[in-house]
Amino acid sequence: MAEGGHYDIVVLGGGSGGYACALRAAELGKRVALIERDKVGGTCLHRGCIPTKALLHAAEVADSARESAKFGIRTSFEGVDMPGVLTYQQSVVDRLWKGLQSTIASRKIDTILGDGRLVSPTSVQVGDALYTGDHIVLATGSVPRSLPGLEIDGARIITSDEALRMDRVPGSAVILGGGVIGVEFASVWRSFGAEVTIVEMLPQLLPLEDEASAKVLQRAFRRRGIAAELGTAFESVRYTAGGVAVSLSSGKTLEAEVLLVAVGRGPVSAGLGYEENGVTLTRGFVDVDGLCRTAVPTISAVGDLIATPQLAHVGFAEGIMVAERLGGLDVRPIDYDGVPRITYSDPEVASVGITSAQAAERGIAVTEVTYPLGGNGKSVILQTQGHAKVIAEAPSGASGASGPDGQGAGPGRVLGIHLIGSRVGELIAEGQLIYNWDAEPADVAALIHPHPTQSEIIGEAHLALAGKPLHFHA
Ligand SMILES: Cc1cc2nc3c(=O)[nH]c(=O)nc-3n(C[C@H](O)[C@H](O)[C@H](O)COP(=O)(O)OP(=O)(O)OC[C@H]3O[C@@H](n4cnc5c(N)ncnc54)[C@H](O)[C@@H]3O)c2cc1C
Repeated sequence: MAEGGHYDIVVLGGGSGGYACALRAAELGKRVALIERDKVGGTCLHRGCIPTKALLHAAEVADSARESAKFGIRTSFEGVDMPGVLTYQQSVVDRLWKGLQSTIASRKIDTILGDGRLVSPTSVQVGDALYTGDHIVLATGSVPRSLPGLEIDGARIITSDEALRMDRVPGSAVILGGGVIGVEFASVWRSFGAEVTIVEMLPQLLPLEDEASAKVLQRAFRRRGIAAELGTAFESVRYTAGGVAVSLSSGKTLEAEVLLVAVGRGPVSAGLGYEENGVTLTRGFVDVDGLCRTAVPTISAVGDLIATPQLAHVGFAEGIMVAERLGGLDVRPIDYDGVPRITYSDPEVASVGITSAQAAERGIAVTEVTYPLGGNGKSVILQTQGHAKVIAEAPSGASGASGPDGQGAGPGRVLGIHLIGSRVGELIAEGQLIYNWDAEPADVAALIHPHPTQSEIIGEAHLALAGKPLHFHA
């Protein structure tokens, strides 16, 4: 381990935001120290994206085994071996962790293991060692949040951290919070055989997603036997002989073996010397401008620590942007509407750009098409339901799409793409190209999508918006 020293850049926190910044800065010839108190890879690799998606894949295997008769295949589903699932999950994490450590080492980045604290605008202390830098990048991430009076005991009242390590499937669970994390665990546990109820204060699951996607998800979850209490707030919880009893503002009480608290994540910024050294915070999040600069000229901040979408790929993008800015390259602020978002439940929900509600709020006149998966060969083969909804600027001086000949003024830029159905997450990569390259429906309609694939739903929706629908009638 290096014992203090001077660097071009000192990065505090080795999660998605911090390590991406370190890797890009090193590529640009900078001397970089990366300080991490636990394991490089952070939440995403060890307690977030990767372990949850391993669980979701195991859940899909369980569903395939259970439902194989639907496809004419005879199997018998004998149950879930949770220690076996955890071994698979850990093997995935370990393999990626090893790869990441070797990539970091290959770029000649000094990784310092220990608890770091900002002690001046240009230095971080770890134990007795002082690491100084021309520039400091704060990337200390986030941890699960709870509600006032709701204490996490780690056994019956848990967060995603404990849920990921459980070596048994709970018989029943109440999940507090219908956001991404709550919905993903509901999906996994239901596939593994648990009785699940989600409690969400707002009137829809995935409150940040388009209402049409949420409605389809709610219907699909109902069919899967996942209950949802929407528009209802948590009031209190007490222990019972078998677990917990959760009281809601609606007057209902739900009993279950565990309560998973998934009400969001708060920044890790307390007690780390940030404010003492001039970094300003709002509700614990570090204040930054569009280029991730804090109030202190020598300090930047990225990832979950700042009030931007809490996603690993946002952390990557911010880390890279800061490294390039410090490396003297031209950088642009990130368009956060253009960040693709996926909820990896069954069914999956994926989107990029704005929702219909946001278009209305912003006073933008739009035209929309919703293409049902029932018209898509591959989706019918997979026996999945859902849709692709595309929102575009309304044609100038007209309302609605261009005529059936595809001629005349068609809709303008694509502003939002919203998908729901099994496996649609992978399709949003195309959606983000369409949005971020300012494509119009006619541009996408001219491109050929391979048949039979689910990607055709993107092509079909744009064909319809461009006024030349193929397998579609409104
Ligand atoms: C259950 C779950 C599922 C998720 N799924 C997805 C997903 O599918 N896709 C997606 O894009 N995002 C997902 N996320 C979000 C994603 O994990 C985060 O957005 C991402 O990890 C943020 O990266 P970060 O670098 O800002 O912070 P973190 O990953 O939290 O990293 C911060 C690092 O800083 C270290 N640190 C903190 N304080 C100090 C200190 N004082 N000294 C030294 N080191 C310190 C921590 O140990 C940690 O390693 C998920 C999150 C959770 C919890």
